Amino acid sequence: MTLVILRLFHRLVRDKRMSTHIALTARAFGAKQLIYTGNHDGSFEESVDRITEEWGGNFHINHVENELSCIKKWKQEGGIIVHLTMFGIELEDKIVELKQKLNKNLLIIVGGTKVPGAIYQLADYNIAIGHQPHSEVAALAVFLDRITAGKARKEKHLNANVEIIPMERGKSIKQKNKE
Ligand code: SAM
Repeated sequence: MTLVILRLFHRLVRDKRMSTHIALTARAFGAKQLIYTGNHDGSFEESVDRITEEWGGNFHINHVENELSCIKKWKQEGGIIVHLTMFGIELEDKIVELKQKLNKNLLIIVGGTKVPGAIYQLADYNIAIGHQPHSEVAALAVFLDRITAGKARKEKHLNANVEIIPMERGKSIKQKNKE
């Protein structure tokens, strides 16, 4: 199973912080790639790549022009499409069914500005993390954490330059390549 996020309609400057948080959340909770549509943003990509280089893992970020072609290609290749929306079916009611699909690759779509009706139709699953409006970052974190049963949070990245030494109080970071 590979988990890939599709972030819709990124806007230069205005969305940089939110899109960066989506990417970092995706990476930290087990996704391997973030694809985004809207404005191509080199500065956003560089920020995410810098974090991946420092903290390790194998996370990629790519821009595509057209979300519908991306979704259709994913389906043609046998992958499953999950669209996160407060209008969908509550995750708790679909989690067993979704876990049975984990032998396939999952494309998880998060919106920003208004999501077109076609996305709701193309998605195999329109999934709500509760039916209150909140945030694409929160929705993504909860979804990924439930679908991976929290495993990604415990993953250690062998290629990281730094690693946190957990402690009850204070802060400690090990510089792995300086030993
Ligand atoms: N009208 C939106 C909706 O359909 O969920 C809320 C817009 S919110 C600013 C932007 C994105 O956050 C949405 O496109 C969706 O991916 C995600 N989101 C927000 N609340 C959510 C919820 N309760 N369940 C699932 N996704 C949510």
